[in-house]
Amino acid sequence: MDPEEAIDMADTNRCAECGGTLQEKIVTYTHPWGQKLYRFENVSALVCVQCGHVWLSAETSRLIDEAIRKPAIPKKYEQVPVFSLPELAGR
Ligand SMILES: [Zn+2]
Repeated sequence: MDPEEAIDMADTNRCAECGGTLQEKIVTYTHPWGQKLYRFENVSALVCVQCGHVWLSAETSRLIDEAIRKPAIPKKYEQVPVFSLPELAGR
């Protein structure tokens, strides 16, 4: 987990990226780790209304980090479609 993603929710309601307003939302958070993607559902996060950046609390980051390091049994597996932009552009 990138430590820059972790903020203290009580501390701020401004996006550190763009200064936009943060809204508390329940999101699906996808976290790349090596060659894999891990998806976490029903994550309580602060989402910037301006740039869409998802900010996780330190506690949430810790839980996600732990789940990745010593994997819990996932609720389900889903395939994630991956696109290469140059290929979409016909190159
Ligand atoms: Zn922002």
